[in-house]
This record gives sequence, C-alpha cells and structure tokens, in this order.
Amino acid sequence: MQNENRSSMKIAVCPGSFDPITKGHLDIIRRTAKLFERVIVLVSVNPAKTNFAFTIEERVDFIRRVTTDLDNVEVDSSDGLLADYLRAKGACAIVKGLRAVSDFEYEFQMSLANKVLNPEAETVIMTAAAENMYLGSSIVKQIASFGGDISNFVPECLLQEIQVRLSRK
Ligand code: ADP
Repeated sequence: MQNENRSSMKIAVCPGSFDPITKGHLDIIRRTAKLFERVIVLVSVNPAKTNFAFTIEERVDFIRRVTTDLDNVEVDSSDGLLADYLRAKGACAIVKGLRAVSDFEYEFQMSLANKVLNPEAETVIMTAAAENMYLGSSIVKQIASFGGDISNFVPECLLQEIQVRLSRK
C-alpha cells in the first residue's frame, strides 16, 4: 500500500468496534484531537467479537455525527490489518483508551504485536476518564435491551436512535 501522507503531519488512528460509540470513546477521540494534527477514527473488524448490533456503516455514521465539531477528525472503516492501515495513511500513532484493569492485558499484547508489524508506529495508551472507567458498548447494549436508561453512556444526539434500535432486539 502507498503512503498517502505526503506532508509531515502527525496522524493518529483511534481504532475500535464502536458498537455503538459511547461517551467513553468520544472522550478519547476529543483528547486525541488535541494532541495530534489529524485523527482517523477507524471502525475496524475485531474477529474476537461477533453479534454486532449495528452495521459498520451505521457505526461510521454515528461517529461522524458526534464529531462534526472536530475539524481534524475523520472517520473510516477497515477490515484489514491495523499496522498496514497506518502505513498506508502515514499515521504515526495508534491511540487506545484504557479502562480499569480489564483492558491492560489485551492492549499490551496488541501494542507489542503492532510494534513488530509496523515498527514506525507507536501505541499511545490514554487513561479513561474516571466517570467512564466502567463504561463499554456491551453494557450499553445490555441495559438498553431491558429498556433501561442509557443517557449517561451515549452521546445525546444518538440517544433516541440507539435506545429504540436496541430495545427492539
Ligand atoms: P475493540 O473491539 O477494539 O475492543 P471497542 O469499541 O470496545 O473496540 O473499544 C475501542 C477503544 O476504545 C479501545 O481502545 C478501548 O479500550 C477504548 N474504550 C472503550 N470504552 C472506553 C471508555 N469507557 N473509556 C475510554 N476508552 C474506552
């Protein structure tokens, strides 16, 4: 793949399933946008996960709608290797959010594997905000499926749509 970044711009990629995007994800995206010149939020396929509630197109659309105020953030999707995607875009960093202790083992392993696959790229681990420490897409899906209130967990402009969709399941 050709490197698309012809300038020396510092580009970060925030990868994830985002099924659906939560306030925890959005916090990491916003903070990344302050640190890097360009940020690509990448909806990627995690082979360890199945039974997605939303299609890739829906997840991309949700993220676009909640990041419209961030000029240096764009959204894309990929079903390939993250290390190759970074190389193709000329991105220098993968930014991941770290919650409690549960994410550590997995993120550490991914970071080491990605370093081997793409030594040019760094994985930057950002600590989750205290209020988002236990928040994840799975818990949002569970609560919503029982008709529970998810307004503390997902961006307000998506609340109605996500709630209706998930409670129908
Ligand atoms: P994945 O399938 O890669 O685990 P997720 O959509 O669950 O995708 O998460 C994407 C990224 O966002 C991961 O780095 C994850 O640790 C981070 N993340 C998820 N929830 C939160 C949260 N509440 N606060 C901060 N980071 C989070």
